[in-house]
Amino acid sequence: MSLFPLFADLQQRPVLVVGGGMVAERKVEALLKAGAQVTVGAPELAAGLVRLRDAGRITHHAEPYREAWLDGVWLVVAATSDVVVNRLVAAAAAARRIFVNVVDDAQLSSFHVPAVIDRAPLTIAISSGGAAPMFARLLRERLEATLDHALGPLAALAARFRKRIRARHAAPAARRAFYERLFNGPVADLLRRQQPLQAEAALAASLRETVAPVRGSVVLVGAGPGDPGLLTLKALRALNEADVILHDRLVSCEILELARRDAIRIEVGKEAGRHHTTQDGIHALMLEHARAGQRVVRLKGGDPFVFGRGGEELEFLRDHDIAFEVVPGITAAVACAAYAGVPLTHRDHAQSLRLVTAHCQSSLDTLDWVALAQERQTLAVYMGVGELAALRDRLLEHGRAAGTPFALIENGSRAQQRVIVGTLAQLPEQAHRHAVRSPALLILGEVAALATRLHWFGAAPLGVDPHTPCDALASLPLRTQAAADEDLGRMRCRAA
Ligand code: SAH
Repeated sequence: MSLFPLFADLQQRPVLVVGGGMVAERKVEALLKAGAQVTVGAPELAAGLVRLRDAGRITHHAEPYREAWLDGVWLVVAATSDVVVNRLVAAAAAARRIFVNVVDDAQLSSFHVPAVIDRAPLTIAISSGGAAPMFARLLRERLEATLDHALGPLAALAARFRKRIRARHAAPAARRAFYERLFNGPVADLLRRQQPLQAEAALAASLRETVAPVRGSVVLVGAGPGDPGLLTLKALRALNEADVILHDRLVSCEILELARRDAIRIEVGKEAGRHHTTQDGIHALMLEHARAGQRVVRLKGGDPFVFGRGGEELEFLRDHDIAFEVVPGITAAVACAAYAGVPLTHRDHAQSLRLVTAHCQSSLDTLDWVALAQERQTLAVYMGVGELAALRDRLLEHGRAAGTPFALIENGSRAQQRVIVGTLAQLPEQAHRHAVRSPALLILGEVAALATRLHWFGAAPLGVDPHTPCDALASLPLRTQAAADEDLGRMRCRAA
């Protein structure tokens, strides 16, 4: 069920609650808090409701349900334990186009009451659309614990100063920067320490200070391979503070969802062999927005400094005197290895790791094949899907064993992740057979055999020969006796 979230102003508006028990009482309390004029219809009332009636805060119809109660009301809550009555109320409300909530009955309700976190004047409302109310409640508990209680007083203080803040900081970017300092700075600290007068004085003083004009900046942010859980806290913060986000096509929608709602998003997508925006175009966009005083996030898949042209972008920014920062991200090799169960180094199988790219003939020609074909090392090949045959041939020519295992990881860490395993000799054929598409990362080396044993995410690896038992494929001894002896020797040395 997809619902439209809405905060209703019920001040002085007549609202009907049908039912007089404890559930009704809780609803009445919430409605009174919002300033509604509450009428309760029920033959009998729970003790709390009796008190409210005696105090003159609610009106009471002391009789069985009558449709005429709905005359002139804005909202209805049906909170009786009688399903028939609840249905009658829902039907009557629907006929009159009055929004109705039937407690704990999403089907009969035309509005839902969310789980609420109250930091008045700030309110956070959570709904699962009736699908999983318990989740909404659990989420509320989690947020309750993380949301500072100074938030409410801070918002109230800011509301009182709103006109003055507006006058002092007319430009939206400057105003935003001011509010951010307010949110994170000394005024909030004073409120946390329960010193409201000092907080107010500090806010007034900060409005008198002269502030330097806002300077635009660029943060180069690594977005990781796709799973939003792999973003760093710094990346998340940068996304929350961004005015403009220039993002690669590789950056997943789930990650863009986490960015500040009103940030401008510009896709400057690049794909192997297909460039939508030229590098110069990207530079020009960064410059334009940073010079306009905006905070630009240049969001890249994986890590900005691993085949991400991050270096070129920083040089450009430096040449144009634009302030910058870099937030590293989890690069595809590291993420794909983890999500495919392939340790990139292993004391028994690989002592070094090489990150290489092989996206075209010329990039293949410049690689040091003698070094790449060495045993007991892992190659992580980026952008290599189109050149797998050439890659295999050159490695074989330079002496890498035909039986060297590989794992090809497509859409690593995402819901659609696929892992194809096999040996170097059949690499291009296997990739072709499984129609592997970009983005895919190739891990080649002894360690790749472990994927069949250590995979834990998504589907099991494809390409495993059904006639070969899994154990035989991953038959590499995990710890050889020699290695274990060596360890023992080392431990003895340390102990000595
Ligand atoms: N800066 C990025 C790499 C950009 S080059 C990083 O650090 O990861 C683009 C290549 O990265 C793709 O062709 C592919 O080889 C690899 N890649 C990026 N994301 C990937 C993913 N989720 N799964 C598999 N490979 C990925």
